[in-house]
Amino acid sequence: MPIERDADGLEQAVRTLFEESFIQHRLAPQLERMNDAEAEHVLADLPIREITPGYYQRAAYLVDLTNTLTLGIPFPPECFTQSDVAGIAAVRRARAEFEREHPGCPACGERQDHAHTPKCFSCGQKLRRASN
Ligand SMILES: [Zn+2]
Repeated sequence: MPIERDADGLEQAVRTLFEESFIQHRLAPQLERMNDAEAEHVLADLPIREITPGYYQRAAYLVDLTNTLTLGIPFPPECFTQSDVAGIAAVRRARAEFEREHPGCPACGERQDHAHTPKCFSCGQKLRRASN
């Protein structure tokens, strides 16, 4: 199947991109204290890109496209291919899943490592446990 028509594969690739930027954001304070070689070593270990590089290129394009649309910049509908539309839907699903797994702190907005964190790692705000 061509990459642009593999919605499940693209959703997985988008999830990985979100996780990558989350991990890099979380590691930023540590990385700042490291020299380049140490930082490179840490970043090389993660995240795990499990599928063909083409998926991540396409996923990055779709995330950009979705972000642009979120800004409300109007595009004529004929700009979009069928696979763009399917891809945007995949980005939305990936984002919803990411947000469930990494809920933002109601006090400071920092995303948490997982959905069951009892309190915010950043500001110490007690978090309501996700039911289920
Ligand atoms: Zn917080």
